[in-house]
Amino acid sequence: MNNPDIESAVEPSPEVFTAEQLALHPEQVSRHAITVLKHLRRQGFEALLVGGCVRDLLLGLEPKDFDVATDALPEEVHANFRSARIIGRRFRLVHVRFGREVIEVATYRGRGEDEDAQDSTVSSSGRLLQDNVYGTRDEDAMRRDIAVNALYYDPLDGLVYDYHDGITDIRSGILRMIGEPALRFREDPVRMLRVIRFAAKLGFNIEERALESIDHLAHLVAGVPPARLFEEVLKLFQSGFGVATFEKLRQHGLFAILFPDTDRLLGTEEAEFPRTFLPLALANTDRRVQSGRPVIPPFLFAVLLWEPYRELLDEYIGRGIGEYEAIHHAAGVVIERQVGRVAVPRRYTTQVREIWEMQFFLDGMRKRHAFRLLDNRRFRAGYDFLILRATVGQASEACADWWTRIQEVDDTERRQMINSLGGPKAGKRRRRRRPRRQASNG
Ligand code: ATP
Ligand code: MG
Repeated sequence: MNNPDIESAVEPSPEVFTAEQLALHPEQVSRHAITVLKHLRRQGFEALLVGGCVRDLLLGLEPKDFDVATDALPEEVHANFRSARIIGRRFRLVHVRFGREVIEVATYRGRGEDEDAQDSTVSSSGRLLQDNVYGTRDEDAMRRDIAVNALYYDPLDGLVYDYHDGITDIRSGILRMIGEPALRFREDPVRMLRVIRFAAKLGFNIEERALESIDHLAHLVAGVPPARLFEEVLKLFQSGFGVATFEKLRQHGLFAILFPDTDRLLGTEEAEFPRTFLPLALANTDRRVQSGRPVIPPFLFAVLLWEPYRELLDEYIGRGIGEYEAIHHAAGVVIERQVGRVAVPRRYTTQVREIWEMQFFLDGMRKRHAFRLLDNRRFRAGYDFLILRATVGQASEACADWWTRIQEVDDTERRQMINSLGGPKAGKRRRRRRPRRQASNG
């Protein structure tokens, strides 16, 4: 079974605009992308810019990266560039590297595709599991997801090819699926996350048909391979539009699929107050990204899973489990449940645990922990997290201020600050009382 909408439809002939009409200038395009286009053209191939870079240029935004579409086969592209690498098992793409910039070159595809599937045929939910047929540009335009993502720009000739009224949509700020939304979402449920992400980033409206389909089909995202969802979650929340994305995902039932434990708690109050930590933390993350600072994946997941972790920790402590053990187990359980849906790699979950664990010691402000915390490689992430907690009243202002100040003072004053904390003198031998443990002695 294939997508009848796509199969039977006559391939459209594109509307052609001049770059001048659309106020596009070749100097806006990365010179490396131009090199790739020129080179392929010289070999007699067709090659154009496509996707997010064309959309973003038309909106006056700076493209994240430049994608090229061509009728050259991956092997042919590969043979033409010394720095080219073929990637992907099923649908093969070519990455052409120029220093730190990578130009992604994709051969025109014939029908719909699903990046991660390995077997042929269609799954019970209608997902396309294999399709590796190369096609023409007209066919390629049909299998793209959204009209504004299916604009082809040839900066050498100064022409834009518009197959699905994408220019009209750019002007009116609308995201319209190519073909029947329900079919396109069944083929690849990640498209639901993509359309939400673009709506948040561009401030565009999603067409009504697509919104209705999302409300019916959100559950299909649960069937997407967890490794792919991990990549998508990063794109959703590292974009600098995390709050808007979060709100839209929640509104359409998609956040509940990605983060079921967190979503359940967000609907509840805590001591008669709504839970504001997550939106506040995401707003903070957005400010970071917008000022050019990175947000590392472990910090993001520490934020996204904080509520369920804290809930479980409280429950364990309430049951009389010792603090260290409660911390360890609560983190383990929450992470274990989450990675079944979104495959956060082990190297990151280890850091998520560290960030959470540090909160306990930062709150405690004990003499014997202070130096060790300051020396911890992840101290900065732990400290940033503490500040977020302080802004919603989960950590005391005095504690947050103390940790801020200690990073600003010289060594002598630092020692004084630490020595005036509770507990034995820092640097002196001390007899340590072991924290109360439950199961570890038995
Ligand atoms: P950005 O790079 O800004 O996140 P983009 O639109 O370029 O946005 P990419 O993931 O780089 O997104 O994909 C490039 C293009 O490939 C898209 O614009 C779209 O035309 C097509 N595409 C990507 N993913 C899919 C998909 N799941 N289904 C259909 N088409 C897709
Ligand atoms: Mg892109």
